[in-house]
Amino acid sequence: MEKIVSLCKRRGFVFQSSEIYGGTGSVWDYGPLGVELRRNVADAWWSSMVHARDDVEGLDAGILMHPRVWEASGHVSGFTDPLVECKTCKRRWREDHLGDASCPRKPSLGAGQHDECELGEPRLFNLMFKTFMGPVEDDASVVYLRPETAQGSYVNFLNVQGTARQRVPFGIAQLGKAFRNEITPGNFIFRTREFEQAEMQFFVEPGSDEEWFDYWRAQRMAWHESMGISSQRLRFSAHGPNELAHYAKRAEDIEYEFPFGWQEFEGIHNRTDFDLSRHQEFSGKRMEYIDPVSNERFVPYVIETAMGVGRAVLVVLIDSYREEEVEGETRVVLGIHPTLAPIKAAVFPLVKKDGLPEIAASIHESLRKARIPSFYDHAGSIGRRYRRQDETGTPWCITVDGEGLEDRSVTIRDRDTLEQVRVGVDHVVEWLRSRM
Ligand code: ATP
Repeated sequence: MEKIVSLCKRRGFVFQSSEIYGGTGSVWDYGPLGVELRRNVADAWWSSMVHARDDVEGLDAGILMHPRVWEASGHVSGFTDPLVECKTCKRRWREDHLGDASCPRKPSLGAGQHDECELGEPRLFNLMFKTFMGPVEDDASVVYLRPETAQGSYVNFLNVQGTARQRVPFGIAQLGKAFRNEITPGNFIFRTREFEQAEMQFFVEPGSDEEWFDYWRAQRMAWHESMGISSQRLRFSAHGPNELAHYAKRAEDIEYEFPFGWQEFEGIHNRTDFDLSRHQEFSGKRMEYIDPVSNERFVPYVIETAMGVGRAVLVVLIDSYREEEVEGETRVVLGIHPTLAPIKAAVFPLVKKDGLPEIAASIHESLRKARIPSFYDHAGSIGRRYRRQDETGTPWCITVDGEGLEDRSVTIRDRDTLEQVRVGVDHVVEWLRSRM
């Protein structure tokens, strides 16, 4: 983790929020490379979820919603974590995370060893951020920052279904910020208080929910593997009856083996008709679907897939990081899948003379015109330039050399195999496109 955190800062993936003021607890800013990576993860998810399917529609609901939404959803009363405080040092933990935390006064005791801590009784702490809407700060104007995007999809269920002329089964996908006032955030961008979610709610006929759960469970695992994540570091973990959220009939996490252990990365939940029924009850508005053929009315069941985009970025960084010996030197490589890599190609003139920089600059320009994120670099030895790109996960480096002046060709070096091929200057864009 230390290597990943320092690489992220050094190369401009992730910075601590408000660093010049000492940082803000568990909020991180994505730098030039990080924002590209995060958007690529989000775009890949959106494209496979919404563009590649006929049965999932996109939605972008507001972060602030009517406060009754969170009463209906059960978040006001039930979205809590058990908080315990040490009477000696006043440090606070999530009771169910004590096993991962050590005492700050006696860190040598190790994680989970709180023998010398004076822990008080656990009390329930609500994770929703509260604020006020409008100029008056009273109880009547309290609103919450959404802790999940899902509720925006539920309250819009009939709007989307009707306008998009969808029939059940169909889904609603959302990408957007969510906020949770976590008691113990940490592990860099793994658990933060502000984070982006990629959630999809799939509405199905009651009775077909188990089947759809299995379908989405398999789909999501296949997607992670298609993004290049090592399958031996991915696994399913089913929630036991005592771990199920208040709305869930069945839940399974896709877990990843992080440097700090196996942890949830995406959740697949059978939320039953809990949310829609509660909104029907609290709003007094019908939340039923009427089947156009059979005229049957029912409140659909929901299968949810919920992934944290920042957490997915962390998975990509960890999974792709490797150190290798090449010709007696260590190289650090981020072997990021080309679809997700922040920069797709770097262009180098071998030397800064003989017309090579002009050709390299024109290739860089043509990549930019083709909207292929490219980086031009003429500084330092070619080996150093390669190494800088390896560390940022650039899949291809294009070098213009003397030979290319004669036959208008360049060499393209592959980040992973280190193989070099010669490609005609006018074919570079097409060559990259076919491999992206
Ligand atoms: P936990 O029990 O670890 O607090 P959860 O089970 O409440 O998490 P979900 O509500 O299922 O998490 O959230 C879905 C996904 O959103 C998670 O798999 C994770 O990727 C992401 N996520 C949840 N909380 C956070 C957070 N505080 N920071 C970053 N990502 C988060």
